[in-house]
Amino acid sequence: MSSSGSTALIRLASNPECEILGAMAMQGGSESRFYESVTGTLYDREFGERQSSRRRGSQFENAAFAGDARLLREALAGIVGLSPDKIMVRNFLDDFPGTKDDARIARLSRTRTILKASLEGGAPHLLIQPQLLIPTKPGQRPYFFLAPDFMVWSAEHQCYVVGDLKSFVVRENEVEPSDLSRVRLQLGAQSLALRHEYDRLDGSPRSPEIGLLVFSKPNGLRPHAPRVERIGGAIEAIRIGIRAYLEHRARVLELGGANAPHSVTDDLNPHFRDSCLSGCVMAQWCRQQVTETAADLGDTAKNILGETAISRMLDLMDGTAPPKSSEERAFAEELQRIRDNIEAMRAA
Ligand code: SF4
Repeated sequence: MSSSGSTALIRLASNPECEILGAMAMQGGSESRFYESVTGTLYDREFGERQSSRRRGSQFENAAFAGDARLLREALAGIVGLSPDKIMVRNFLDDFPGTKDDARIARLSRTRTILKASLEGGAPHLLIQPQLLIPTKPGQRPYFFLAPDFMVWSAEHQCYVVGDLKSFVVRENEVEPSDLSRVRLQLGAQSLALRHEYDRLDGSPRSPEIGLLVFSKPNGLRPHAPRVERIGGAIEAIRIGIRAYLEHRARVLELGGANAPHSVTDDLNPHFRDSCLSGCVMAQWCRQQVTETAADLGDTAKNILGETAISRMLDLMDGTAPPKSSEERAFAEELQRIRDNIEAMRAA
């Protein structure tokens, strides 16, 4: 399950050049509310997880966590290196239920206590819904809360490893590449937050670059064996997203001072990509900002042509505008070659 902190970090990692994402993360709250503040109109499109997926996700979690997480203990016994009945469990949601910041802070404090105790042995092996954070202080939104579905003690690595339950139905533990890339980033953000906690404790390098995914079996809501994901690349992508956030935040502050971040959106640079259309509430608004430029033709056109206006491309192709650089000359020659080929095919 994503917290808003992990959603913001995944978006920034996926498109670090977009300054508007920085303002959105600073502002907090729902993404559709941000859209409404910028445009002054209601966001009336479908967005986010479908109700049916959300329901299935909750059912899967409830099944996995029931009976002192019996099914999850069975699935993770090989990681802990103990039989399921010997695995000690701590469920943070039982201790501090709720999604308000007070509950998160209480869970964070308890997570820190257990991590410290684990350095001397004697801590629970399986932590359900622990709380972590990634600091970005000082400044607005000085931290991102991250809440993995669970953390489990790894006998091999002698530290906790983050894990997430995914209710997508998979066969043979195989996942669609687009889903996998997003969940890897999610694990990357959680793992980075766990590293931060270990660093606070003794600064020694801990927590390997892996995360666990536990999927639902097709027949019922029983968990598959955990899938161990190598997430070194995802951790690096999240680091890049955090650096981008710090830069965007400085720019938003420079432009707007104490005003709400959405108020300076017109002056920020979007970085419109094809993936925006299916992944971001601001897609239609941002697309209007790049209309008549190469970006409106798709990622490939933008990668080759940058910010070139479509009208200039046509002028270069027709030879009615002289190229201003060697790149433009090469580009104009290529466009003219393509045009000549098309005309020759038509004439044949
Ligand atoms: S739609 Fe706009 S705000 Fe959203 S990621 Fe794309 S460019 Fe950034």
